[in-house]
Amino acid sequence: MTSAPPLDDVAPTWPSVLTIDHGALAENWRRLDALSGDAETAAVVKANAYGLGVDPVAKTFLSVGCRTFFVATLPEAIALRALLGDTVTIYALNGLTPDTEATYAANAVRPVLSSFDQTVAWADFCRKTGTKLPAAIHVDTGMSRLGFDADDLTRASADDRLSEAFDLALVMTHPACADDADDPMTREQLAAFAASRARLPSAPASFANSAAIIAHPGSQFDLVRPGIALYGGRAVNDQPNPMANVVTLHARILQIRNVPEETPVGYGATYRTRRPSRLATVATGYADGFIRGGGAAGDGRPALAYITDQPAPIVGRVSMDLIILDITDIPDEYVRVGSWVELFGSRTTIDDLADHAGTIGYEILTRLGTRCHRRHVGRPKEA
Ligand SMILES: *Cc1c(COP(=O)(O)O)cnc(C)c1O
Repeated sequence: MTSAPPLDDVAPTWPSVLTIDHGALAENWRRLDALSGDAETAAVVKANAYGLGVDPVAKTFLSVGCRTFFVATLPEAIALRALLGDTVTIYALNGLTPDTEATYAANAVRPVLSSFDQTVAWADFCRKTGTKLPAAIHVDTGMSRLGFDADDLTRASADDRLSEAFDLALVMTHPACADDADDPMTREQLAAFAASRARLPSAPASFANSAAIIAHPGSQFDLVRPGIALYGGRAVNDQPNPMANVVTLHARILQIRNVPEETPVGYGATYRTRRPSRLATVATGYADGFIRGGGAAGDGRPALAYITDQPAPIVGRVSMDLIILDITDIPDEYVRVGSWVELFGSRTTIDDLADHAGTIGYEILTRLGTRCHRRHVGRPKEA
């Protein structure tokens, strides 16, 4: 969406550049907000904003009106509080670990309480300090991961003093199968969520991740928690992705060589050229977070990189620091040593690459390491 200066100008010394389009980030938050009706639209920025860089990314969401943020861990929450100041609400999803109550309170971070015991610990801390602090309760409706189970619910509903001790600001659950628009499990989880809420003190509710926002209208409740869709990833399978592309990964060509037919390429010689070929070696590998399964094992279905508008298949295994492209069909004037290659972006998307490698776009993003330069373009002025 946003146009940006040439890579040679911004990254003369870097082997690879991840461009993060903040115009697209802002647009995606607005689109999800529009899809969510009256519900508040939060932003999930755990894992360094899915690998993109939480500092600039969270500020962009703040600038478009986001006021509630979710991270996974307490350290992530503390860093976010320092970054965004005290006007926003921050939840840490992974629950209350022993002896962290005072740290939560000091940083105004709301724990997402995952068990009755955690809830008692929070209530005790509130009584002891004479403060009625906010927290969320997470109920498990089908993930078997975090959240109240049936026993926790029974204990909580029998304890009518609990809700007086602290401020129950949110009751939430997490859908397991919302990425499949037709999976009956989402309906079953919505029913289980309603039953759970009936046994807890009344509070605002939250169910929807990105997939539920897009594929399950009626799951929005009071607050929605999108993550991957904000970052342009595909949240719902088997339907067009309605989000704007956010990330583009470029890397430089280090060397170009001409080889005869039947030349082995890369570790394990898993690929052999089928004709006299021209190969380009590119400065990115799995140590940069480029997924090793993104390479071709000679099955004839390689992932495509792009040099300007010219497609170039990845051949051979992805190495730690390098990838090899077949550029035989690309006219010479498009390719030279030092040229930038687009490894993913709006053409080969993170989801195309994930499909190729047998994983999901989330993993493609969160694996991206620190060896590529992160270039944030189109940042809003106030961010
Ligand atoms: C990660 C996470 C989200 C965001 O999920 P997406 O699929 O990325 O939208 C929402 N809620 C919880 C509890 C999560 O762990």
